[in-house]
Amino acid sequence: MSDDGSGVGELRRTLDGIDGEIVRLIARRFDVVAEIGRAKERGTRSIQDAERERAVLEAVEGVARQLGVSANLVRRVFQEIISHSVAQQSAQLTGEVGARVRLAHQGAEHSSGHLAAQKFLAGRALDGHLSGHPSYRAAVAALLADEADLAVLPIENTSAGSMNEVYALLREHAVFIVGEETWKVDHCLAATAPVPLASLSRVLAPPQALEQCSQFLQTLPQVTTTTVMDGADAMRTVASAGDAGLAAIGPPEAVAAHRLEVLRHGIADTDSNYTRFVVLSRSPVAVDPRVPCKTSLILVTRHEEGALLRCLEILSGSGHSMTKLESRPRPGKPWEYMFFLDFEGNVAEPRTAAAIDELRSSAPYIKVLGSYPAKALREHPQPGRLPGAPAEESAADTLEAVVVTETPPARRSTTHRLVDRAARSEDTVVQVGGLLIGGAGFAVMAGPCSVETAEQIGSTARFVRDQGVHVLRGGVFKPRTSPYAFQGLGWDGLELLVAAGRETGLPIVTEVMAVEQVQRLAQAADILQVGARHMQNFDLLRELGKVDRPVLLKRGLSSTIDEWLGAAEYVLAHGNQQVILCERGIRTFESATRNTLDLSAVVVLRERTHLPVIVDPSHGTGYRPYVAPMAWAARAAGAHGLLIEVHPEPQRALSDADQSLTFAEFGALMRHLGTVPAVPST
Ligand code: PEP
Ligand code: MN
Repeated sequence: MSDDGSGVGELRRTLDGIDGEIVRLIARRFDVVAEIGRAKERGTRSIQDAERERAVLEAVEGVARQLGVSANLVRRVFQEIISHSVAQQSAQLTGEVGARVRLAHQGAEHSSGHLAAQKFLAGRALDGHLSGHPSYRAAVAALLADEADLAVLPIENTSAGSMNEVYALLREHAVFIVGEETWKVDHCLAATAPVPLASLSRVLAPPQALEQCSQFLQTLPQVTTTTVMDGADAMRTVASAGDAGLAAIGPPEAVAAHRLEVLRHGIADTDSNYTRFVVLSRSPVAVDPRVPCKTSLILVTRHEEGALLRCLEILSGSGHSMTKLESRPRPGKPWEYMFFLDFEGNVAEPRTAAAIDELRSSAPYIKVLGSYPAKALREHPQPGRLPGAPAEESAADTLEAVVVTETPPARRSTTHRLVDRAARSEDTVVQVGGLLIGGAGFAVMAGPCSVETAEQIGSTARFVRDQGVHVLRGGVFKPRTSPYAFQGLGWDGLELLVAAGRETGLPIVTEVMAVEQVQRLAQAADILQVGARHMQNFDLLRELGKVDRPVLLKRGLSSTIDEWLGAAEYVLAHGNQQVILCERGIRTFESATRNTLDLSAVVVLRERTHLPVIVDPSHGTGYRPYVAPMAWAARAAGAHGLLIEVHPEPQRALSDADQSLTFAEFGALMRHLGTVPAVPST
C-alpha cells in the first residue's frame, strides 16, 4: 500500500492491525466458549443461560457507553457473537462438529438462500457442500432424492410474511425440520457504475425484493422492473449486460461478488427486515434436552367451534409458549383450515411428548415436523406471543421447565395408547364432508365389490343414493386369492368411481393396496380402505398415517382385536387420527359361512377404543340371504355403520358375486334398518 503523504496509508495499516486483533479476540472468545461447552457436556446445565446472556450484553453496553461508542452497535455485534457461541455449543452436544454435509438451497451463489445456508454451516462448525436450485420445490426434490442431506428454505419474512410454497412442501413430503436460521436482509441497489438514480431505466429483482422495496421504487417513476429468480441472479445479469441504465436489487455480498457499484444501501421499506429459514432433513433428529428447542407441527382441528382453542389450551396448559401460528387452507376441503404452529419445547422431553399425545386425541391430523435448536427467538427481537403464553417469560424460564423430567401420564395400554379409550373419553367422530361417522351417527357405505363399467357403477351409485346411503364403495385395486381372477380396473376404475361419486354427490371409499398408491388415491377418494389382507402391512399403515384422509381399517383374516388395535395405532402414531374400524368376519373352524362375523368385536371395541366401528356383513357371511339379518344385528350391537356390497346383476359380478345384494334386496335391508334402534353412544 503506497502512502501519498497524507498519513492515510499509515492509519489504514493501524486499522488493519486493530481488525486482526478483533478477529483474534473473537477466536479466543470461541476457544473459551468451546471449553465451557465441554464442561456443560459433562453436566446437566442447559446450553442457553438467558440471565448470563443479559448480563454479558449489559456489561459490554456499559463499556461502550464509557468509551463513547454506540451501545446499540455493540449490542448487535455481541448478539451475533453470543448466538454463534450457543449454536457452537449445541452442535458440540449433538456431535455435529466437523461433519461434512450436502446442503441444498434455492438461488444462485451469493443469493440470500445461499448466504443463510452458509451462516447455518458456520454456526454449527459444519463443513458443507452447497448446491443452489432454481426453486424451493427443486431443493426439496434434491433432498428427497438423497442428492442432499439437508435443505435450507425460507419460511417467513418479517415484512413480506409467510412463504406459502414452503408450507405446502412441508405438508406434502416426508421432510422434517431439524434447524432454523435467520438472515437480516439488506437490499442494495447496484449498477455497473456509480450513476445517478435518475439515469436508471430498468431494475431487476426477485419478486420478494420488489415487494419489500416498493416505497423506494415509487421514488423512481421512470424505472421499469423485471423479476428474476434471486438477487444474485439479478446482479449477474446486470454485470454481464454492461448497460449503465440497468440496476439490480440484491444482497451486498452479491454486489461485491459481481464487482458492481452500490447506488443505495438498505432500500427496503422497513429497516428490520429478517427472513427465517428452516433446515429440512428426510428424518427428524433427537436434540439433547439441554439445548433450547422449538417444535413445529401441522395440525388439522375438528371442523367445529372452539376446536383450535382447545388445542392451544393443551399447549399453554402444559407450559409451552407458542411462537407462531399460521393457518393455511385445507386441500380439497373448502373453508376448512390446517394450522402450522411453532412452540418452545422438545419432543425428547416427556412434558412435550405428553402434550403432543393429548393434541392427537383432539385433532384429526397432526404431523410433528420436528424439534430443533431455536435460533430466531434468541437472535432477534421476540415476536409477539400468542394468547395463553405467559407475558414476561424469558428464555431462561422456559428452559428451566424444559429440563425438568416428569413421567408422562399413566395410560391403560402401552401398545395402543392413542387408540385406547383411556386416551379419550369422547368417541372420535370422523368427518367426511358433511357426514359424521362415529358418535351418535349411523353411516351406510354401499356399492359393488369392484368397479366394472361406467354403467355398472353409475346405476349403483344412483340407486344407493336414493336409498339414503351415505358413502359409495367400489374396489379398483382388488386383492384376489388367484392371480388369474379379475384384479380390478386400477386407475381407470378410479376415474369411473370418482365420476359416479361426483354425479350423485356421494363421498367415495376404495381400497389402497400399496404404499405408492396412497398419495394419489388420497387426492381422489374421500376414505381409504385397508383390506383384511393388508391390515398388518405396516409400511402401508405408516404411509396412511401421513395423509389427511380418513382410513377404513378392516380386521385381518385371522387377527385378534389387540392386533387390530395395534394396526390402528400405527396410523394414529404417524399423524392421521381419522381411523374407522371395520369388522368383516374372521377365520374360524366354521365353514357354513365364508367367515365368522364377530359381532362381539363391536361391543368389545366400543368399550376399548374411542374410534368408530362399522360392520361388513357381506364379507362376514359371504352369502346373500345372510347379509341383511347380520346388518340389522350389527346396528343392534352398537355399530356406527355398515359396509355392504350391492350390484345391479350380482350373478354377473366379476368379484364376490355370491354375497352381493340385488337392488331389491338392498332396498329391503335399508327399509328395515330404520326400525332397528341404534345403541346410544357412550
Ligand atoms: C372388499 O371390501 O371388497 C374386500 C376385499 O374386503 P376384505 O379386505 O374385507 O376381504
Ligand atoms: Mn368384496
